[in-house]
Amino acid sequence: MSFPSLRLRRLRRKESLRKLFEEVKLHPSNLIYPLFVDERIEEKEEIVSMPGQFRLSLKSLVKEVNDCKKLGINSFLFFGIPKLKDEHGSEAYNPKGIIQRAIEVLRKEFGEDINIITDVCLCEYTSHGHCGLIKDGYLDNDSSLELLKKIAITHAQAGADMVAPSAMLDGQVKALREALDDNNFHDTLIMGYSAKHASCFYSPFRDAALSAPKFGDRKSYQMSYKNKREALREIELDIREGADVIMVKPALAYLDIIHLTKNKFNLPLAAFNVSGEYSMIKAASKLGWLDEKEAIIEILTSIKRAGADMIITYFAKDLAEMVLKDEL
Ligand SMILES: [Zn+2]
Repeated sequence: MSFPSLRLRRLRRKESLRKLFEEVKLHPSNLIYPLFVDERIEEKEEIVSMPGQFRLSLKSLVKEVNDCKKLGINSFLFFGIPKLKDEHGSEAYNPKGIIQRAIEVLRKEFGEDINIITDVCLCEYTSHGHCGLIKDGYLDNDSSLELLKKIAITHAQAGADMVAPSAMLDGQVKALREALDDNNFHDTLIMGYSAKHASCFYSPFRDAALSAPKFGDRKSYQMSYKNKREALREIELDIREGADVIMVKPALAYLDIIHLTKNKFNLPLAAFNVSGEYSMIKAASKLGWLDEKEAIIEILTSIKRAGADMIITYFAKDLAEMVLKDEL
């Protein structure tokens, strides 16, 4: 059949038909909301470069999570900001550290109703801001793995559902799986930051988490965004090492990688819609150059259409509110 009998505009004639034929649907249950818990503060503080996002105190954390739950958001990815930083990032694996306490508080308050996912890395906790131990000016892979294991164990002990190693060290998923299993945390999930690229879109996050490296950059461990074959190798290795969820980060400039990953590997796939992707929409809409709501829906839809099963996004609340008001 061809035109004039075949007319695809039939599918678009009215809103209710357009809704019926939608291939991609966004829902808060597939969103993961990143939250920053700051040991140094008593009240929540807005992050200047990420309007609408906050560094939370332990005190303000429960209210924030409760507000999100009312909107239908049940999954959270937590980042900690400690009072003290040192060369070894000791506060990251302190059983009484900020994230470990935050997990305990939330588990007590919300039981099993929420999914607690924790970032496992050292950059927020080290005085030099790198994601592991530095030896002769270079990030030492294998000794840093030992610290990542300690972090993951303390998170699992506190009650985390899923740990997410983000340092892009070789063997990090394998190291965590073995450490968790050795300590009887067989049910703790691992989300690998499998293809995490060295990206300029992380800048507002570093402002939020106070984690900018004090010297050099992270290009000797994070991936070059010029390499998609290498991204697929990284993902394949994470799967072999036992990742339950794989991730592509950032999302928007990496839709091709998300799509390739979805087609090649049949595993739950997360995409991290990062801070810079958030802040540029907020800035453009503040200037009146973009319609904020429409931009959020279009971008998140594109990430899901590319193949992401779940999206880690600072827009989680914005989107959930739109879903509640039936604005999608
Ligand atoms: Zn890191």
